[in-house]
Amino acid sequence: MATYNTSSDAANTMVRAFLTKVGESYLDHSFNTAKGKGKKIWEKIKIEKFDNKCAFCGKDSAKLETEHLIMFNRQECGLHHPGNVVPVCKPCNKRERDKLSKEHLGWVEHLNSKCASDEVFKKRKEKIIKHINEENYPKLTKDEKKALKAIAENLFERISSELPKSIDLYKRIDTTLVKDRSRIYE
Ligand SMILES: [Zn+2]
Repeated sequence: MATYNTSSDAANTMVRAFLTKVGESYLDHSFNTAKGKGKKIWEKIKIEKFDNKCAFCGKDSAKLETEHLIMFNRQECGLHHPGNVVPVCKPCNKRERDKLSKEHLGWVEHLNSKCASDEVFKKRKEKIIKHINEENYPKLTKDEKKALKAIAENLFERISSELPKSIDLYKRIDTTLVKDRSRIYE
């Protein structure tokens, strides 16, 4: 939990709420990994499919986190959907950036960087792709992806821009309407 709150935090949260709803629109139920049906689905993925091991480096870890294969943000627009989540250990949950483009690595490149040999990489990649298909993660068209990104960027801008408006409003009210300006607590 952030202790210093910014409008970007709020806007990013709203974008993730949007990507959650879009993901759920492809299911016939909600997908809250912390409770109910969503939790059962998540545990099945983590325990039965991935054997309580990190999907990227293969390590056993008591505390596996949910990782979105296609990143869950306005740049990548990965959906919150069972087919887009895998269990990973804490170090693997940090996506590195490409040295040239500075963009985050895609999950396949990220996975490659965590595997000791080509053979291991191939096996883990196949396992993840099988998981994506078994959970019916929707294969979005180029146009659908563009539309998602445009809406997510617009949502981010709109939520971010609310904060300066509210500060302005407060200042205007304070200077025009508030008469008693005593700063002393009594
Ligand atoms: Zn790992």
